Amino acid sequence: MDRENDEDIKLWNAESRAMELIHEQVDHRLITMEYDYVCVINLSLNTIYIDLDQLHAEWDWTGEEHDYDEARLSLTNHFIVADDSETFLRRSSVENLRRKLAKKDDYFFTIRFEYANDVRLTKKFHYSYLNRQQGLVLATLKDVTSLLDQDWLTEELNRSGFIRNVRKILHDESRLEQFAIMYINIKGFKAINDLFGTEGGDRALRGVSQIIRQSSLKPYAVGRIEADHFVCLVDANTIDYEEIKRLLHQTMVINNRSLDVYGVCGIYLIKDEERYGSVAKMCDRARMAKDYIEDEYVQPYAVFDEEMRISFMARNEALGELRSALERNEFQVYYQPVYDAMTGKIASAEALVRWRRTNGEMVSPAVFVPVLEESGRISQMDLFVERSVLAFLEDRHAKGQSVVPVSMNMSQMDFYDKDMMASVLMDVSNTPLPMDYTRFEVTETAYSTVASNNRNALLDMKNIGVKFYLDDFGSGYSSFSTIRDYDFDIIKMDMGFVRKIGTSQKADAVIRSIIDMTHLIGSKVVAEGAETKEQVDFLREAGCDFIQGYYYSKPLPQEEFAKLLDEQCA
Ligand code: C2E
Ligand code: MG
Ligand code: MG
Repeated sequence: MDRENDEDIKLWNAESRAMELIHEQVDHRLITMEYDYVCVINLSLNTIYIDLDQLHAEWDWTGEEHDYDEARLSLTNHFIVADDSETFLRRSSVENLRRKLAKKDDYFFTIRFEYANDVRLTKKFHYSYLNRQQGLVLATLKDVTSLLDQDWLTEELNRSGFIRNVRKILHDESRLEQFAIMYINIKGFKAINDLFGTEGGDRALRGVSQIIRQSSLKPYAVGRIEADHFVCLVDANTIDYEEIKRLLHQTMVINNRSLDVYGVCGIYLIKDEERYGSVAKMCDRARMAKDYIEDEYVQPYAVFDEEMRISFMARNEALGELRSALERNEFQVYYQPVYDAMTGKIASAEALVRWRRTNGEMVSPAVFVPVLEESGRISQMDLFVERSVLAFLEDRHAKGQSVVPVSMNMSQMDFYDKDMMASVLMDVSNTPLPMDYTRFEVTETAYSTVASNNRNALLDMKNIGVKFYLDDFGSGYSSFSTIRDYDFDIIKMDMGFVRKIGTSQKADAVIRSIIDMTHLIGSKVVAEGAETKEQVDFLREAGCDFIQGYYYSKPLPQEEFAKLLDEQCA
């Protein structure tokens, strides 16, 4: 820990020293050269330091750093003639700059620029070492501030542009509105990309930014902060929450196909005394509020409050502990029985992981699975779950006790991990259990990863009789081609459908047709999340094969589940 802090301090010192050098040296050069565009590239940190806003005024370098490659790409996408873009990217790469500047202190190249209405100009990029030791390079051309502030895709602001613009608005004392920042995230955006290709995805993103821009929110600034995450600054008093609900569910038409796009939104109300505070933090809080949305079907927005901050800190602390949770054996497998709709008997079960922290608190997989996915440790955990399940079943099997098939959830990350997939294949090949007793659940989104990455691993398992479920069917942007082109043994209808049972004739008809379609393609269907007798009765009557949900049983610890199996057999 201490060492990490030391490293941080060292890095910070190096960065602030680099900043000082820029301040010391650039002023002089600029004044003597009178370039209208300047920036400093830090070759060792791969960042570009720029502040043209201030530059024209007072040569005051209080600017911000950007990722160099990102800035370069944005420039290429916007202005450089397509034929030249490859050359530009090659010539301006950090490796190339380093190599060229090692020979001489100066390096330049010309590239053709393209402006609106076909105006083409040849421009010269000029790079020179400011400080060889620190790897600081001065680059000069034209003013591109607004370009660096702009998101190349939507033409709204990018992250730093948004921060800079909002800061300016908040610092303007003549503005008396009560401001709020909204953080909007598209649900299941990856699926849009998978279904419609990157170009379709890009169009959807542009569509989203237009919807925000043209909405009754009348935002003062709109930004795309990363991938499918948007932010906007609005007048808090004009927020109409019913309108937001409508706004967050849109039907878009892409390539003649219409698509339901759902969003969730976190809102941070900026207090007057905070107007000089960090805009990045305000965005973080709006995002935090978004993460607290429990059920986007019911309420797709949330407003930040102090309790969220406190529990967020507690959660952050928990995430730190998560790293060693595997070694400390803190994960446990729970089993939720799945019932045969006709006989009402346990037909199978789903393995659901639980994390019991050292302080006894139980943490939901909805919280930690995404974190493990991000940190690349999910496969390690999934392998642990798979081995625990096999050990449990094999032990009962050996003792002549009753067993039922158990399905395990696979993360899409697992399919990138060839070693993990090989281990799973080996485990299931060697088990004395009937082959179709080990089953895996894959979501539609995960499946698209499989299709492109490691399809063989899945086919190998299927060939020896392992069964596959399509999990959460209908929760995102369902693609019937997923079902058409690949044989899933069992389709799990998402909880969202079961919740709507009895709310409208249409909702009921949709469920019936999913059940019928599943049967027509030779698969079986499990309904997830049945909580009431009405739901169970409806599902049974509609011909649903299996039912899982609190109505029958919550996920149970292994011993309790074992007891249930023993009782059923007795
Ligand atoms: P899932 O695979 O769709 O699992 C079903 C979730 O619905 C479980 O939540 C289950 O407890 C919950 N559930 C079941 N019946 C009802 C009901 O009647 N009402 C309501 N409201 N909920 C019900 P859980 O255990 O919190 O798991 C959440 C998600 O975490 C799972 O969704 C799955 O995607 C993931 N997950 C769980 N265990 C694992 C694992 O071992 N590996 C991986 N990669 N993901 C896992
Ligand atoms: Mg599941
Ligand atoms: Mg599910």
